[in-house]
Amino acid sequence: MATCATCSGELRPEWRFCVFCGTAVTPTAVVEAAAEAPARVNHIAIIALILACIGGIPAIAFGHIALRQIKETHERGRTMAIVATALGYVWLAVAIVLFLRFANGL
Ligand SMILES: [Zn+2]
Repeated sequence: MATCATCSGELRPEWRFCVFCGTAVTPTAVVEAAAEAPARVNHIAIIALILACIGGIPAIAFGHIALRQIKETHERGRTMAIVATALGYVWLAVAIVLFLRFANGL
């Protein structure tokens, strides 16, 4: 979403003036702002989600790395990273429960 350079209000592409402060919106400014919008999905987040799906506990580490990168680069894939991290913790919990059961059985 493009934002007004004067008041930082959200601008719609069809607006010629900012409705919040009245500043004229030049088409190039809107295009530049749109170009800055992140379209790339964070690759670490994708790897983390794949690891989480196959039961990989490293998904926790990859998820946290992805979240940190997304915070800095404003890439897409934040939800993916959160889901991957959560699944990683679920797998870790399952692994701990199985380990304790196995250990008690001996
Ligand atoms: Zn404005």
